[in-house]
Amino acid sequence: MTRYGNTRKSLKDEKLAPRKQLGQNFLVHKSTAEAVARCGKIQSDDIIIEVGVGLGALTQPIAEQAERVIGLELDSGLVRFHKEKKDLPDNVTLLHQDVLKADFDELYRLSGGPLKIMANLPYSISNPFLFKLIEHQEKMNWATIMLQKEVADRLSAEPGTKQYGIPTVLLKSCATVKKLLTLKPTEFHPRPKIDSVVVRIEFTRIDQEDKRVYDRSLFQKIVRAAFSQRRKTLLNTLTASGFFRARADGDKKLEKQLTREAIIAGDITPGTRAEVLDLDNFIDLTLAFSSRLATISA
Ligand code: SAM
Repeated sequence: MTRYGNTRKSLKDEKLAPRKQLGQNFLVHKSTAEAVARCGKIQSDDIIIEVGVGLGALTQPIAEQAERVIGLELDSGLVRFHKEKKDLPDNVTLLHQDVLKADFDELYRLSGGPLKIMANLPYSISNPFLFKLIEHQEKMNWATIMLQKEVADRLSAEPGTKQYGIPTVLLKSCATVKKLLTLKPTEFHPRPKIDSVVVRIEFTRIDQEDKRVYDRSLFQKIVRAAFSQRRKTLLNTLTASGFFRARADGDKKLEKQLTREAIIAGDITPGTRAEVLDLDNFIDLTLAFSSRLATISA
């Protein structure tokens, strides 16, 4: 099957209709696939994980630059096709695997170190995929991924904008994000309705960070809780999330009061909304909540 050019005909010949529910929008231009692969800044001794091999459009230029590619593909029809045709380069190992269920410890082992991931990502899984990267941040080196423009905009949004939200803050706490390339719908078959953007996410190694030490799990809970209802104040969202519920023992007024005191201890006004807080504000809140919760349980 040709990887570029007449993708529509090739898919038809192989009785492989693009599956919308799997976000199958295949790259159709070789030069574009090569440009996307270059955004990976791949070294010749790199082992790259590629998510969503599809017809192999991006796999080809990645395999030319890397030592080895471990490709994950959820569509059993495509996996069967590649196994039968043996059309992928020799240094590509194809796994029939859902990336959202993939064992990152195992991928780390197969990669021989922190993960380097490339993907033309199905739009439907971009958020859960990004959250998985954040969850496994200590196993990550970088991810160069193509996303729907709106999703990419959210990752580098500034406080006070409507794009600013949970993924923005969580990613900012562990990585730097750069937009590298914008692709028009005409680059794909079938054509999506919107532009796509290639984003490079470089993860900061925790041991190299020159930053304050804080409880990352509590930080994530606070960020998620704070944005759970964007129009509500921090006092309301953080009280509703029950950080001090056990201590208040059913006394709702006391629960609200303890939450208010913790927010003030973090140097934040309780009537503020999550969308105006920057990363440092969220870390301040986490440190204040940590120390209050520790005092209470001591
Ligand atoms: N890389 C190819 C390209 O650039 O032409 C295909 C990209 S297409 C946008 C996304 C690919 O990811 C499809 O082949 C789809 O079947 C696959 N996919 C969808 N959900 C997946 C998942 N959860 N895990 C692994 N692959 C998935």
